[in-house]
Amino acid sequence: MPDALPRQWAGNYETEPALENKMTHVITDSCTKCLNCTKVCPVDCIHPAEGEDGLDKAPQLCVDPDECIDCGACVAECPSSAILPQEDLPADKKGAVEVNAKYYKR
Ligand code: SF4
Ligand code: SF4
Repeated sequence: MPDALPRQWAGNYETEPALENKMTHVITDSCTKCLNCTKVCPVDCIHPAEGEDGLDKAPQLCVDPDECIDCGACVAECPSSAILPQEDLPADKKGAVEVNAKYYKR
């Protein structure tokens, strides 16, 4: 029965709403676009990176919530303390979750 396990997992994911809204690390409006984080992210999920369209006009960089593996490597590289795990965002920075996610749904 090779199909049994995948079907079971698919069912579990469909019943877990939190997985549909996956968000891991988030960049806030404290970002100064220094690009340090883009150089250490192992999955290149921070954009716009150097040489990419929109970098000049973007107010900040954003983490792709679908690609981030929550490794935390970017945090120590940020001179502005602009990157936080979503659960650690202070109340006045929670809007960053939507800002980051929206960037990838343009
Ligand atoms: S937590 Fe890791 S994967 Fe996510 S943005 Fe930072 S460096 Fe990239
Ligand atoms: S390291 Fe910090 S300030 Fe620099 S681009 Fe990344 S989030 Fe922005």
